[in-house]
Amino acid sequence: MTSSSESLAGVVHIAGNDVRVDHLLRQRCSWCGLTLVDYDLTRVAVPEGHDPTPATWPVGGLVLVDGNMKATVGGIGQDVKLPANACALIDPTVTA
Ligand SMILES: [Zn+2]
Repeated sequence: MTSSSESLAGVVHIAGNDVRVDHLLRQRCSWCGLTLVDYDLTRVAVPEGHDPTPATWPVGGLVLVDGNMKATVGGIGQDVKLPANACALIDPTVTA
């Protein structure tokens, strides 16, 4: 995990389970609840014969959110430390 000043832009979230209910698919941060993925599957256009399920973030993965940009920046695990700009390191009274 890098700690350059560039990586401190935005906030890093921890991807939770993706949940599909009928035609809706959502995935939120497992810590603060920020919506990372929100699809209405009836509005996703795919070529015929292809899986219409959009990609989701790996569960436990660290997802950098900076404005409308989202990018994976690693995974959480025993050897991975949260970056300084992780939502889980913000005062808990803000994210609870
Ligand atoms: Zn979060």
